[in-house]
Amino acid sequence: MITVDLRSDTVTKPTPGMLAAMFSAKVGDDVFGEDETVNALEEKAAAIFGMEAGIYCPSGTMTNQIAIKCFTQPLDELIADQTAHVYRYEGGGVAFNSAVSTRLLNGYRGVLTAEMIEPEINAENVHYPRTSLVVLENTVNKGGGACYTLDQIKPIAQLCKTRELKLHLDGARIFNALTYTGDNAADYGKYFNGISVCLSKGLGAPVGSVLLADKETIKYARRVRKVLGGGMRQAGFLAAAGIYALDHQVERLKIDHAHARIVADALSASPAVANVLPVETNIVLFDTIEPADTILNKLAAQGIRAMSTDKHRIRFVLHLDVHPEQVEHVIKTIGLLVQ
Ligand SMILES: *Cc1c(COP(=O)(O)O)cnc(C)c1O
Repeated sequence: MITVDLRSDTVTKPTPGMLAAMFSAKVGDDVFGEDETVNALEEKAAAIFGMEAGIYCPSGTMTNQIAIKCFTQPLDELIADQTAHVYRYEGGGVAFNSAVSTRLLNGYRGVLTAEMIEPEINAENVHYPRTSLVVLENTVNKGGGACYTLDQIKPIAQLCKTRELKLHLDGARIFNALTYTGDNAADYGKYFNGISVCLSKGLGAPVGSVLLADKETIKYARRVRKVLGGGMRQAGFLAAAGIYALDHQVERLKIDHAHARIVADALSASPAVANVLPVETNIVLFDTIEPADTILNKLAAQGIRAMSTDKHRIRFVLHLDVHPEQVEHVIKTIGLLVQ
C-alpha cells in the first residue's frame, strides 16, 4: 500500500546525496570552534541573509530561545502573535530561560502589522514590564503557512527602530516564504536583529537550525547555547546536511507548494470538507464536516497520516518525501470521502 506522511515537514529523511555529503564532512571539535563544516554552514547561512554571523544549534526551539535571551533582560516583555511558536510550542521557555513575559496579539492568520504592535508597546512606567522585543514568524505555522512580504515587514522594522525594540524572525519556514513572495533573502538582514532558520523542516536536513545576528550577539549566543547544553562536538557531520540542504533543496520547495495547491483543490471539491483555508506555501488547513478524528481514521485506513489542529480542522504538510504518485493517492482518497 502507498503510505504518505503529511503530519509535518519534519518527517523527511536525508536523501542519498545528503547522506554522502554527511559521510565525507571534515569535522573538528565545534566547542573549540574547530569544526570547519559547522563554521562553513554558519558563514554560508549568514551570507544568504545578509547578516554578520551565525550559530548552529540542535533545534529551532533553541535558536529562538537563545535569540530571546540575547535580546531581552529579565522582567522585559516581548510581543508576538497569539499563535506564535515561541509562545505556544516552546514549553514556556520564554519565562523559564529569559524571565520575560509575552504580550499576545491577534494577527490575521498570525501576520501582524505595525498598527497592531504600536499600541501594545508599554510606556516607561514602574508598573509595566519593559517591552524590548518583537517576534515575527514567517511563514506562520498556525496561520496555515501564511507569509509576510518584505514590504509588510518594513514598517514593523521601522517601528522597532524608532521605539528601540529588537526584532527577531522565527524563520522555521523562511525559505517557503521566500519561494512564495519572491523577496530576496539578503535583504532580510537589514530589517531583523536576529533570524532563526530551520534546516530540518522543508529543507530536509535531519537536525539543526541556525541563528543569525551581528557578531556581538552571536558571541553572547555561544555562551547561552553552552548553558542550554547545546554545545556539540563533531557536529560537522550534521552541519554538512545543512549545507547540502541550502545548496540543493531550496529550489525544489516550489514543488511542495504546487502539491499543496493540488491537494487543496481536491479538498475544496469534497463534500466532506466544509472549508479550505487559503494556501500560500506547503501547509493546507481545512475544516471537516465530521469530526477531524473520524476523517483522520479514514485517511489512515488508506495509508495517509495527518494531524488535527482542532476538533474539526486538519493540517496537511507537503514536503520532499511526498512524491507525485503519493499526491495522486491523496487526491484519489479525498475523492472517496463522503459527507
Ligand atoms: C518547527 C518550528 C520551530 C522549531 O522547532 P524545533 O522542532 O525545535 O526545531 C520554530 N518555529 C516554528 C514556527 C516552527 O514551525
